[in-house]
Amino acid sequence: EEMKMTEKLPKLAIVVPCYYEEEVLPKTLKVIGGLLKDMIKQKEISGESVVCLVNDGSKDKTWQIIQKAAAKDKNIFGISLSRNFGHQKAIIAGMYECDADIYVTIDADLQDDCCAIREMLKKIKDGCDIVYGVRDSRDTDTIFKKYSALAFYKLMKLLGVNIVYNHADFRMMTRRAVNSLKEFPERNLFLRALVPLVGFKYDKVYYDRKAREAGETKYPLMKMLGFAWSGISSFSIVPLRLVTFTGFAVCFLSLIFMMYLLYGWAHGKTLVGWASLVTVITVFSGVQLLSLGVIGEYMAKIFIEVKHRPLYIIDEKTTPAK
Ligand code: UDP
Ligand code: MG
Repeated sequence: EEMKMTEKLPKLAIVVPCYYEEEVLPKTLKVIGGLLKDMIKQKEISGESVVCLVNDGSKDKTWQIIQKAAAKDKNIFGISLSRNFGHQKAIIAGMYECDADIYVTIDADLQDDCCAIREMLKKIKDGCDIVYGVRDSRDTDTIFKKYSALAFYKLMKLLGVNIVYNHADFRMMTRRAVNSLKEFPERNLFLRALVPLVGFKYDKVYYDRKAREAGETKYPLMKMLGFAWSGISSFSIVPLRLVTFTGFAVCFLSLIFMMYLLYGWAHGKTLVGWASLVTVITVFSGVQLLSLGVIGEYMAKIFIEVKHRPLYIIDEKTTPAK
């Protein structure tokens, strides 16, 4: 593999997930497409390299814009999914459907500095299989997004999930790293925790995260929280352990409480109050419900995994321009 890269220029695929991005896409095509052309010109990558745009079920002009661009330019490739599968699966679709030596995934909104791609490529050529883009500053994020995100990374670490701090889904991977990723059959995709499990030599590239060029975020609060929880429950069994631990603690405490009651009974103070009874009932129903809830979360995961549904379904692809 390494031999091949030094012998001939590697084919790079820049995978861009697009969900209702008609406002920003023209600029994205100009900036990322321009970068690709320049890298080809500078003989950093092969002339067959592509920008692979994945339309994740947008109903606006996103797909028309992609089709038009692909018809004019052989270095632009488009894939349209049959419905909205979500950011993570759109990325996967782009990587698995595009044949290349090196893959890089980047958001359509130009928040991530695409100039970092050059630096990533250097590290790959130096022998890395995965290069993580790490944002240096969060100046352009809202205060809420900034702190909730930082708290999330801390929490993940606490729960024993190995993710790269301040890295989202801007990363470069070699073909063999992507092929290894394919070996993971799971459906609950949380790539930033899954990719580190692939292993191999890796490095980080730091960049400044900018504000969205145009359009609005496709990750409103509820979706973001859902994504965070999906990441936790897909990779950490700590919540389950916590329930077990709480169960033990409560059992222990109730044992002591029971001894106290027995002592009272033996000494003729049999007037066990209504309050204590109700307290015991409520505490126990609470703990039981909580436990059931968490177990249910994991059962839901198993439920989804055993179905082995396809990760994505392609509707159509563009044909290369002449
Ligand atoms: N995206 C997608 N499918 C979705 C939601 C988002 O393909 O269901 C894409 C979106 O077009 C963008 C990237 O994922 O290229 C990141 O989304 P966004 O910029 O809205 O998220 P934020 O940066 O605000 O977290
Ligand atoms: Mg964004």
